[in-house]
Amino acid sequence: MKYKPIFVTATNTDVGKTYTTCKLIQEYGKMGLKVGVFKPIETGVRDIPLDGGLLLKEAKKTNPNLKNFTCNDIVPIQFSLPAAPYIAKKKSSIDVNLLHKTFEKIASLSDVVLIEGAGGLMVPVDEKLYMYDFIKEFDSVVLLVTHGKLGCINDTLLSINLLRALRVPFAWCVNLKEEDVSFNEVSLPFYEDEFGGAVLVQKHMRVLSENLLKLL
Ligand code: GDP
Ligand code: MG
Repeated sequence: MKYKPIFVTATNTDVGKTYTTCKLIQEYGKMGLKVGVFKPIETGVRDIPLDGGLLLKEAKKTNPNLKNFTCNDIVPIQFSLPAAPYIAKKKSSIDVNLLHKTFEKIASLSDVVLIEGAGGLMVPVDEKLYMYDFIKEFDSVVLLVTHGKLGCINDTLLSINLLRALRVPFAWCVNLKEEDVSFNEVSLPFYEDEFGGAVLVQKHMRVLSENLLKLL
C-alpha cells in the first residue's frame, strides 16, 4: 500500500457513503492508483452484501489484482438483520483478527484502500467497540459524508466534534440529493462562515480526492 487507508463514515446510514466512495474510487482510478475496498461489517444482508458488491465492481475497474475477488472477500462479517452490529450480531462475537487478515490481503494488492463503515461513527459494534474505533484499528484518515437536509449543520458538527476529539485527520463533504433544494439557502451560509464553504460530492470530487491524499 502506497498510502494510508481512508475510512469513509457519515452522519447516518443512507447518507451516501457507498455512493461517495464509488466516486472517490473513480477519481483515484483516473490518477492511475489501484484502489482496494473493504467493508468490515455489513448488516441487512440477504443473499449478497450489496454495498460490498457496488464497491468491488468499481474498484475492479482500477485494480486488476482484485480480478478474482468476490464481495465476500471484502466484507468479512455479514449479518441479516438491518441494525447496528451490536444488535445484528446477536450472540456471536466480532472477530477483529479476521478483519485485520482480510484488510491486510486487500492492502497488499492495492495502492490505497477505502474502508466503508456501517452507519455513523457512534454505531455500537460490540460490548467494547464503536464504529469510530475502526479508524485507529486500521490506522486511517477519515472522510465524513454529511447530508444536505435541514438539520445537517447539527449532524455535521456532532460528527466533526468527535473526530476532533479523537485527533484523527479528516475531510468532510456534503452529498446533496435531488430533494435537498433548500441547502443553499438554509444550510450553506453557516458552512461558508464557519468553514469557508462546503465540499460537494456533486461538484468537487477532484478537489476532495486530492485533499484526502494530502492527509495520507
Ligand atoms: P450509505 O448507507 O451511507 O452508504 O448510503 P448510500 O450511498 O447507499 O446511499 C443511500 C441511497 O441513496 C442509495 O440508494 C443511493 O443510490 C442513493 N443516493 C446516494 N447519494 C445519491 C445522490 O447523490 N443522488 C441520488 N440520486 N441518489 C443517491
Ligand atoms: Mg453504504
